[in-house]
Amino acid sequence: MSKNERSSVWFHELAAPDVIDYAKNVCDVAILPLGAIEQHGPHCPCASDALNAIGMSELIAKKSGAMVLPSPMYGSHPYHHWGVQGTIPLRFETHTALIEDIVRGASVAGFNKFILLSAHGQVSSTIVAVHKLGIEGQFVLSLHWYDFLRDNQEILDDPMWHADEAETSVALYLYPQFVDMSKAEAGHSTGLIDPKWKIAPGVMPKPGQMYHFEGTFAKPEKLEMLEGGNGVVGDPTKATLEKGEIIVTRLVDHVSLLVEEIMDQYPVGTRPQTA
Ligand SMILES: [Zn+2]
Repeated sequence: MSKNERSSVWFHELAAPDVIDYAKNVCDVAILPLGAIEQHGPHCPCASDALNAIGMSELIAKKSGAMVLPSPMYGSHPYHHWGVQGTIPLRFETHTALIEDIVRGASVAGFNKFILLSAHGQVSSTIVAVHKLGIEGQFVLSLHWYDFLRDNQEILDDPMWHADEAETSVALYLYPQFVDMSKAEAGHSTGLIDPKWKIAPGVMPKPGQMYHFEGTFAKPEKLEMLEGGNGVVGDPTKATLEKGEIIVTRLVDHVSLLVEEIMDQYPVGTRPQTA
């Protein structure tokens, strides 16, 4: 079976003998799409991050030959997302354990290289999973799509935050049927310190900035909602399908190149040694 002969790029849509044959003879890179079930304002679905990761992973797999593992859809969340209606957060420990078990299970079928493709800020659990699996000998890369691009500002007017120009543009490209732009409106969040100290997701860091996960510097979202917030950080009215297409295409090209380089360096059946 070649990469173009398989009937699906999804692990769970193929019979086990076909999955095993593909991983043994064609490509043993597996992508795990990681998103979240989280409120995304009045205009985008609660599964936006999961749908973004799933849609991007499918396109990467079609282009590169990698296999996509079924997405758990739920994600882990920082302290300020908890207790918000429309958001179903996993604890970091739960999410880390989930990722570890999925990678271990898929490796039994013959996959030797893993890419965690996140469309939701959850480095706090993905990085822990990467290193725990590395100790066991697994080769795992963790990408958050916006940080992997780091050139969003060439495409977007504003730095990326949440349910905003960036995420809504991707949603308009991947699943326009779930987006209601008539309800899109700008929103904001109140930081506990000046935002200049934080690196916005997907932009080049400046000297003297902290990654946006490195502190409790955001006001809890449930307090902002009680004060009339709409669950948006940024301005989704600036979103367009065209911006989404550029972002997704660029991401698909970058990750596909990564998959192809890994497969050239470590041919099917071989695993980069991590332990
Ligand atoms: Zn999101």
